[in-house]
Amino acid sequence: MLQGRAALVTGSTSGIGLAIAETLAAEGARIMMNGFGDADEIEDIRAALVRRHGVEVRYSGADLTEADQIDGLVDDTVSAFGSLDILVNCAGIQIIAPIDEFPLDGWDAIIAIHLSATFHTTRLALPHMKERRWGRIVNMGSAHGLVASPCKAPYVAAKHGVVGFTKATALEAGPWEITCNAICPGFVKTPMYDLQAEGLAAREGRDVEEFVREQVDTRHALPHIISVEEVAATTVFLCSDGGRSISGTTISVDAGWTAI
Ligand code: NAD
Repeated sequence: MLQGRAALVTGSTSGIGLAIAETLAAEGARIMMNGFGDADEIEDIRAALVRRHGVEVRYSGADLTEADQIDGLVDDTVSAFGSLDILVNCAGIQIIAPIDEFPLDGWDAIIAIHLSATFHTTRLALPHMKERRWGRIVNMGSAHGLVASPCKAPYVAAKHGVVGFTKATALEAGPWEITCNAICPGFVKTPMYDLQAEGLAAREGRDVEEFVREQVDTRHALPHIISVEEVAATTVFLCSDGGRSISGTTISVDAGWTAI
């Protein structure tokens, strides 16, 4: 379905981004992976994607808090593949603390990785998409891009920003047949979610499984945690021909969280 398309997926060494890279590769897209992690493990993941799907897969360890490294990331993608057709902004971090105790560098990092990096990758990718009059930009929002929770203020602010930026991008890029949307997941089983659940459960001296059950029951209408494959499937749909006229919107994959 996406044979020959060139895709840059930030934050694709883990969790949702990795599942998106896998699913796009399965559809024939060439992939530029990005994110942190153990070099040998990342190489194993990269080689496995090539083996399983027979597409070209490259990796860049660009740090998205550094604008010049984002420049390099987009340059490397275009030099490797000759184009940049699909951009998925998926990198992320989470820090949980009340506003008046929030570490200042934590605010800066969350805004940089979720919001500023999305601006930088988009501004650098757009000229290449415009040239080919085709493009798909998928930004990883969150239920927290639509509603808030206590002790996650920078994350909530960044994700609301991502939703606004998505709309603005869709309006500007539309004339070139470029779509831009934000996927807003609820609780998705990933290393980021596990780390957060373990930390919060420990802080309250509670069993992790019981804590997760309660979180899911409180927020999700459907009684399950979401899988990375579900978010990846939504991303691929947005990149497919079926997604041609979907732009400037949010798609909730949140098990009913924001239906309240
Ligand atoms: P994860 O921790 O499994 O993956 C995060 C990825 O971002 C990793 O590849 C990591 O190396 C990369 N990353 C972090 N800082 C980076 C930096 N400075 N430069 C480059 N890469 C960096 O997390 P995840 O749960 O898969 O989250 C992926 C996205 O989905 C995030 O934007 C997150 O906010 C969003 N999201 C997650 C959930 C959830 O419940 N897991 C829910 C809603 C939204």
